[in-house]
Amino acid sequence: MTTRRNFHTHTALCNHATGSVADYCEAAVAQGVTTLGISDHTPHPDGRWQSTRMAMAELPGYVQDIHDAAAAYPGLQVYAGIECEHVTEHLAFYQDELLGRHGLSYLIGAVHWYPYAGEWASLYGQPQMDAQRLHAYTDHIVELISSGYYAFIAHPDLFGVAYRGVDEELRACVRAIAQAAEACKVPLEINAYGLRKKKIEDGGSWRFMYPLMIFWEIVAEYQVPVIVNSDAHRPQDVWGNTDECLDIARRYSLHVVNDDFLVEKGLPVHNCGT
Ligand SMILES: [Zn+2]
Ligand SMILES: [Zn+2]
Repeated sequence: MTTRRNFHTHTALCNHATGSVADYCEAAVAQGVTTLGISDHTPHPDGRWQSTRMAMAELPGYVQDIHDAAAAYPGLQVYAGIECEHVTEHLAFYQDELLGRHGLSYLIGAVHWYPYAGEWASLYGQPQMDAQRLHAYTDHIVELISSGYYAFIAHPDLFGVAYRGVDEELRACVRAIAQAAEACKVPLEINAYGLRKKKIEDGGSWRFMYPLMIFWEIVAEYQVPVIVNSDAHRPQDVWGNTDECLDIARRYSLHVVNDDFLVEKGLPVHNCGT
């Protein structure tokens, strides 16, 4: 992959990033990025997780900003996307409103929260995740992948934020995720945002919370497409650390699909679900 194509970009609307769509386009041009997918976190019809998400009322302006930027930067290929948690009761909203009425080109599937013991547990809320929680996370992300709603899966190894050690439980979970992605041909993302965050101590040494190397080492045993993205939350990071994600892909001989992604409206989105 020689061209810089980033499909994972946030804006100030989500309340934990900076910069407008135009600011990211400006930075993309300056950094030699040729394809830019804007993919802020979706709002939810019931307003859940609102403190770190845009409001429903901001959605039309978000889409309009992307269309305006695409017109203002004709040399840049701009796509309109959005990043979604897998909330079953909001799938109709994703389908009818986000992809339908607003005409977004793609949905990113991401798990920051997962159902556990009748509630939504946050990956960031648990300093230490036990095997039971890891399996609950895995069940949820496998369901997300298999739903067929998402064009790729953001940071599937995000559980590295909270899980420590490499044991059989972890290996089994990674295999389950890789198998689902292989069956549905959904790309898994090596996410550069983790490379910009502080490292954590795990078993006496320091590692990134994510990407998690053991995850990608196991994924390499499967026929899984891989996408690399910045997950930029600041305009200056529009390509930040993504070359290092490519290095990880190279290290494990993973198949990177950025160059083919969305070229003709993309890899099929509904390739596994009903
Ligand atoms: Zn974010
Ligand atoms: Zn993101």
